[in-house]
Amino acid sequence: MSDCIFCQIIEKHIPASVVYEDDEMLCFKDINPAAPVHLLLIPKVHFDSLAHAQAKHEALLGRMMFKVPQIAQANGLNNGFKTQINTGKGGGQEVFHLHIHIMGRPA
Ligand code: 5GP
Ligand code: ZN
Repeated sequence: MSDCIFCQIIEKHIPASVVYEDDEMLCFKDINPAAPVHLLLIPKVHFDSLAHAQAKHEALLGRMMFKVPQIAQANGLNNGFKTQINTGKGGGQEVFHLHIHIMGRPA
């Protein structure tokens, strides 16, 4: 079993409140929300951070960013939202599987 907590969520070894899933990405509620809606969008393929992305991940990252507003609206964030990607210890990253924070307050 992977020792990455987000890979374990992908593998359904630990539970999460999933709001979106397809072949290449998964979105679930943050366990310690910093906003009324706080979601994490992750690729199903593991890489540690944005700084670890390779050329082969370029299109996937584009598809994830394109999916963000769709997921936000589907979760009530019709008036806008914040996105955040923490990269590296200096960037405040705590879980080293790339993730996009999607945060906001339903209008
Ligand atoms: P980072 O600081 O790495 O950008 O953010 C990691 C986020 O993952 C934090 O907001 C934290 O609350 C969330 N998180 C950590 N462990 C778990 C978990 O087991 N389940 C869920 N749903 N979120 C987690
Ligand atoms: Zn992982």
